[in-house]
Amino acid sequence: MAHRMASSDSFTTKPEWAGDLPPWLAEDYTKLCHLHRDQHLPHALLLAGSSGIGKHQLALAFASSMLCTHAEKVCGDCHSCKLWAAGNHPDFWHLQPEEGKQVISIDQVRSLLEFAYKTPQIAAQKAIVVWPADLMNRNAANALLKCLEEPPPSTQFVLSSANPGRLPATIRSRCQVVRVSEPDDQQAQQWLRGCGLDEELAQQYLQLSSGQPLLALEQGEQLLKMNQALAAAMQMAVSSRASIVQLTKPLLSFEIKSLFDAYLRLLSAIVRGKLGGASLAPEERPAWLKTAEQDWDVRKLLEHAQFVQNTLKSIHAGSHFNDQLILEDLFIRLALCTQQD
Ligand SMILES: [Zn+2]
Repeated sequence: MAHRMASSDSFTTKPEWAGDLPPWLAEDYTKLCHLHRDQHLPHALLLAGSSGIGKHQLALAFASSMLCTHAEKVCGDCHSCKLWAAGNHPDFWHLQPEEGKQVISIDQVRSLLEFAYKTPQIAAQKAIVVWPADLMNRNAANALLKCLEEPPPSTQFVLSSANPGRLPATIRSRCQVVRVSEPDDQQAQQWLRGCGLDEELAQQYLQLSSGQPLLALEQGEQLLKMNQALAAAMQMAVSSRASIVQLTKPLLSFEIKSLFDAYLRLLSAIVRGKLGGASLAPEERPAWLKTAEQDWDVRKLLEHAQFVQNTLKSIHAGSHFNDQLILEDLFIRLALCTQQD
């Protein structure tokens, strides 16, 4: 039951406190608060939308607004709001993977369920944020499902996920899906500049993070370094100025998943360039690319891109590879795309 919140002018009071929520989420936040105030929300919401746009921040801001005990507005100043700010509100539960883990386990859900069936201590109700919800393993999701089917009183669940399709359909059907607003390019750049980036970096980071501003802010610098290292390695592979082992070494410090994402992006841009379509923006187009383009065989590049895509799928599905071997294999294959035969 996908649901885009209808815009409405009927709201008169505006919630005032939303922490440092990015501006493109302000409207979603206000609507959620008002729907909640008017008791128009089901007990479980699923915030869906691209990663890096602030769904998690929205979920937290909404949770804190529910817990605020001020009658008229979200105050940021009552006992409840102060406990929230201190990070130890007794009526809030944040379910997320434990540090260093990639899944939410059934034990974590069991602890949450104990909390869910208790009466709220300070606020009128309890708030539970599950993020990223699609990281619950099957057992964890089944345990949570029972709770969503027989919802405890005075409890609001807010699940958040960039990949809601990976959640069991039974969980999705128990939630009202809310599509979270995405920023346009200008909003995203403005926000990044407000966070202290200059115009050029804001633009570059945003491009490298596929238009996801929160990702751009958190990882832009690292993404830029990674893309530069990747472009250098590709150049070396093409010009055969270094051994494969040598050229892959500087890449080993980066996370393999992001590395393959970036590699595929560069490769697609090269293919598009070869086919005469829009290629990389001039400022991110390495000088070596132009010379190398003449030597590349577009058919081989397309096959190579297919291989990269398949590998990336296996990586995303959790397959384990030896990073060094897989990178060496990648660049050997890339070098072969330039050979004339
Ligand atoms: Zn308050």
